Amino acid sequence: MNGTMMYDALTTGSLIEHAARYHAGGAVVSVETDGSVSHTDWAGIAANAHRLASALDRLGVAADARCGTIAWNNRRHLEIYFGVGSGGRVVHTINPRLTPEQIAFIVGDAADEVLFFDQTFVPLVAAVKGHLPTVKHFVLMGPKSDEAAAKIPGLLFFDDLLQSGSADHRWPEVDERAPAALCYTSGTTGNPKGVQYSHRSLVLHSLSGNQPDGLAIAARDTVLPVVPMFHVNAWGVPYIAAAVGCKLVLPGPGLDGASLARLIDAEKVTLALGVPTIWMGLLAALAKSGSKAESLKRTVVGGAALPPSMIREFREKYGTDLIHAWGMTETTPLGTLNNLLQKHVGLPAEEQNRIRQSQGRPPYGVSLRLVDDTGAELPSDGSAQGNLQVRGHWIVESYFGKDKSALTTDGWFDTGDVATIDPDGFMVIRDRSKDIIKSGGEWISTVELENIAVGHPAIANAAAIAARHKKWDERPIVIAVVREGAAPTEAEVLAIYEGKVAKWQIPDRVIFVEALPLGATGKVLKAKLREEFGDILWQD
Ligand code: AMP
Repeated sequence: MNGTMMYDALTTGSLIEHAARYHAGGAVVSVETDGSVSHTDWAGIAANAHRLASALDRLGVAADARCGTIAWNNRRHLEIYFGVGSGGRVVHTINPRLTPEQIAFIVGDAADEVLFFDQTFVPLVAAVKGHLPTVKHFVLMGPKSDEAAAKIPGLLFFDDLLQSGSADHRWPEVDERAPAALCYTSGTTGNPKGVQYSHRSLVLHSLSGNQPDGLAIAARDTVLPVVPMFHVNAWGVPYIAAAVGCKLVLPGPGLDGASLARLIDAEKVTLALGVPTIWMGLLAALAKSGSKAESLKRTVVGGAALPPSMIREFREKYGTDLIHAWGMTETTPLGTLNNLLQKHVGLPAEEQNRIRQSQGRPPYGVSLRLVDDTGAELPSDGSAQGNLQVRGHWIVESYFGKDKSALTTDGWFDTGDVATIDPDGFMVIRDRSKDIIKSGGEWISTVELENIAVGHPAIANAAAIAARHKKWDERPIVIAVVREGAAPTEAEVLAIYEGKVAKWQIPDRVIFVEALPLGATGKVLKAKLREEFGDILWQD
């Protein structure tokens, strides 16, 4: 040994130990399934995580077992994140909005040995239990309940389990390349696939994703992850929060605008994270209640394209910066984040807002490229549009249970997104490759058409899809939801496209509906819309 530096494995256990040691009193606030609010701190979370890990050891759960969760964002779920993952096992977060068949498939595919679930999901678990042959222990995340025990024979209770564990437990030594967490893709295109996150990838994602041009969460922040802990690790927030010791507010099941507005005011939240549909609900609730969400300085928006009008509304009415981010299950998820560069600082607000609409730039540790359908690389000139490929320290290499690489022969992951990248690295998602509209051989971005539609004051939400067309193969149509109290005509909505896109890109129709069909992660199910409306222009 000569002139070397220490080696310490990058593990999630090191994150929670740091929180316990240097941020012991940092608050963790949790809204429980019954609506009550509980208060703990990072020392409490760490102690319970140790208790849980030792209780699982005593139960005889395999040292590297996968343990499923069907749960909201709450204190016990956070303890499971570390108690299972840092304890050497793999925390497998499951989206409760999937169908019972999909849940049974996922639990079986992951061969989960333990299943933790909130009170809300007792009926769901009781119904699918017979189809979960790998699960040896069902654990209700709460105190003892005779009612739940009657529905699920042999049921264990999280709070009892903690009592049986020891807070003196120590994290086992784990290889930093070993898995700590598992999350399945949403499965809108075929069977869901498992993405397993290693300790190393989660720690690097936390460090790099939280740079000043990343999420930039500090100890003095109060952070509200509205994005579920079952949706790509709540974008990494539980791990980042442990690393920096911020106050964490876990919203439980109340994700409607009014509940969130109350929580933001009560806990003085400074940063909140979620998908655009959540913020549409919050904006409507704030307008109704008259609250100014004084404490809220920043929100991070991702998971689907951010309507540009939302940036302005948050900034001008509430003084809140909206940070647009892009990622996917396969990218842990932070792939890009939008923060301005030095040269943008003095620009007029309108120009800055335009730059902020982009999905942003990759943090250190992620590289992006665009390729055409033959795999040839395209320039990052802001106008060449191609298939977005990505590589980096926290990008999937192969799916869970699959020996085959998920990468191209030269080692990149194809995202299935169509994008442009400008010379500064600002990336714009134009579409999913399966959603893009091909009219007469030219591509039309559905994201762009949707952004324009929701810019109309009478439109609350909109989805653009391809309708089959005899002459042009496909033509754009827009399916729109009207704002409460408004009654626009089709011609009025179409008029808003004049001058904003080329004439041939203007949609052929606008169809008004009550609501858009949403998938398990709150994204619009375009395949369903295409099924319903895709033949509307097809005339004999
Ligand atoms: P998921 O794995 O369920 O998180 O879905 C990932 C997909 O969501 C990406 O491949 C994109 O198509 C879409 N997505 C995520 N963030 C954004 C964003 N900011 N703008 C547009 N699409 C997004």
